Formats: sequence, structure tokens, C-alpha cells
Amino acid sequence: MKKRGAFVITLDYEIHWGVFDAMSLDAYGANLRNVNTVIDRLLILCDKYQVKITFATVGMLFADSKKSLEKYNPSDTPSYDNNSLNTYDLMKGVGIDEQNDELHYAKSTIQKIKQNGLHEIGTHTYSHYNCLAQGQTLEQFKADIIAAKEIAKPMDIMVQSIVFPKNQVNDAYLKVCYENGIKSYRGTEESAIYNTKSSPLKKKLVPLIRLGRLIDGYLNLTGHNTYNVEKLNANNEILNLPSSRFLRPFHSKLSFLEALKVKRIVKSMRHAAKNNELFHLWWHPHNFGADMDKNFENLEEIFNAYTDLNISHNFESKTMTELTLDILNK
Ligand SMILES: [Zn+2]
Repeated sequence: MKKRGAFVITLDYEIHWGVFDAMSLDAYGANLRNVNTVIDRLLILCDKYQVKITFATVGMLFADSKKSLEKYNPSDTPSYDNNSLNTYDLMKGVGIDEQNDELHYAKSTIQKIKQNGLHEIGTHTYSHYNCLAQGQTLEQFKADIIAAKEIAKPMDIMVQSIVFPKNQVNDAYLKVCYENGIKSYRGTEESAIYNTKSSPLKKKLVPLIRLGRLIDGYLNLTGHNTYNVEKLNANNEILNLPSSRFLRPFHSKLSFLEALKVKRIVKSMRHAAKNNELFHLWWHPHNFGADMDKNFENLEEIFNAYTDLNISHNFESKTMTELTLDILNK
């Protein structure tokens, strides 16, 4: 059967577990506290346009209390050289349960997403695991993935897709994912500015790389980053469904460029629809936690474009696992 183009959205759902090592609660707390509202609005908008999302969810968020976290924590936790990456240290200070601490627990919101029925709940690892960090081991990663599967099971959620934290894809870890029932992951764009593997030279270039990514959000610097669906299965055990674009949050200082940002996304979606390709968009719910109305306006424009392409080219919204199964069952 001829493959049609696919529109995949993945959200790295992590709240504080994903940003505690990069941003302070003083600077970013409002964004994090608004995540539940963002998800409520997303579910409503997705219902309206029948757009599916894969929520790549940090395993720790499945807990509703500290007791539950302690039950599922693996015994072999990551031994990062840089201990400031360690979420198990952060855990020592979290509240007693979800009612008292909505930055570290999200069981009821995950339940809401599941009950909606349109979306997929995948994993963003159990502990927001840094797969390319120095000091951690493959065995520790394996223990983490098993914990992520186990904590989801009582909610009847079978985790089958993964987004690696900070987009750190460690090739040696893909097999561990596959052996634990994970069928696909989100790789990075082909352009070198999106490669997350670090080198001493690249460290020096970080400001330039960031600038390149920023400009690419508005102007076509690296191409469409869409992918021929027929070629996504290159006989790998686990499928790579690479990213096409990070949906940058509304930027008040660059607000005059917002239209350009949406236009760049819509053009690439159109390219994907016409050529039977994958367009894979991603962001984090907390990115929408500030300037929420502006961010949702942009998203609705993207969803409107999707509706048009769905009608004209049968471009279809799919979860990561739906697309993976389509590809494997051709
Ligand atoms: Zn993350």
C-alpha cells in the first residue's frame, strides 16, 4: 500500500525533572506551574482538529506520592561525573504527594490524557536520564528503562516509544530500548547544528550553534527536515522517526518574526504532504506556560494548515507508535 505523509507531534513532558539543572524556579517557575493548564488546553484543541500527540513522559511523573516514587526507583541509579544532573538528588526535596507538589507528580494529568483516547503516552526515560553524560553506564540506563515501563503498567500504559532527554541519542542504548518493547525513538535533524554528541571543538562553537538553530526557526537554513516514510525502516530493530522542527515558544522580543516561524513550519508540512513524507514537530508543555494565548494562536494556525493538507493530500496525524506499526506492517 502506498504510504501517505504523516504529521507526528511529540511533547517532552517532564515539568521540573527536565529543567532543574538548567533553570531556576525563580526564573522559570511560572512556566512549570502552568503545565496542567497547558495540557487541558492542548487536549481541547487536539479534539477540535483531531490531531494526535505522543506525550514522551518522564517516568517519575507517573507517581502520585513520594512513597510511589520510592517503590519504583531502580537500585542502580546513574553515577554521573557531574552530579548536578542527578534527579535522585532533586527527589530528596520533593513534596509528599501530587496535591502538594504539582511540579514533580502528574499521575492525574497522565490519567486524563489516557482517558481522552486520541493520544499516545511514551517515555522520556524514568529519571530524565542523560544518555551521553560521563560516568553513567548501560546497566544503569537499562534499570531506568525498566522502571519507566513498570511505573506505567498499573495505569495500563504500555510504553512503546521514546524521546531521549536533551535529544542525547546513545547508539549503544537503542538495543536496550528495543529489548524492552520500545519500537521507535525521535532522532535529531540531519544538519550538524542539531547533533547533540559533544566534542571539544563543538563546545567552543556552542554560541554559534545556538544562533544557527534560532535563525533556522524562522528562515530556511537547513531545509525542510522531512523524511520519506518508505525509507524510515532501514532494517533497524528500533525505528528512528527524526525531528523536523522544534516549535519555539513565543518570544516577545522577536514577536515580529512569529509569522515567519509559523510560515516556515507550514511550508515544510506542505512539502511533507506533497511528497508522502514525515513532518515531526516537537516542544515541551512548559514552553507554552508563558504567553499561553500567543503560543496557542500559533498552534491553531498550524492545526488549520494540517486540516487543509489532510483534505488535499490525505496527510495524516499519527502517534509515533501508529506510524511505526504502519511502516512495519506494510
Ligand atoms: Zn527533557
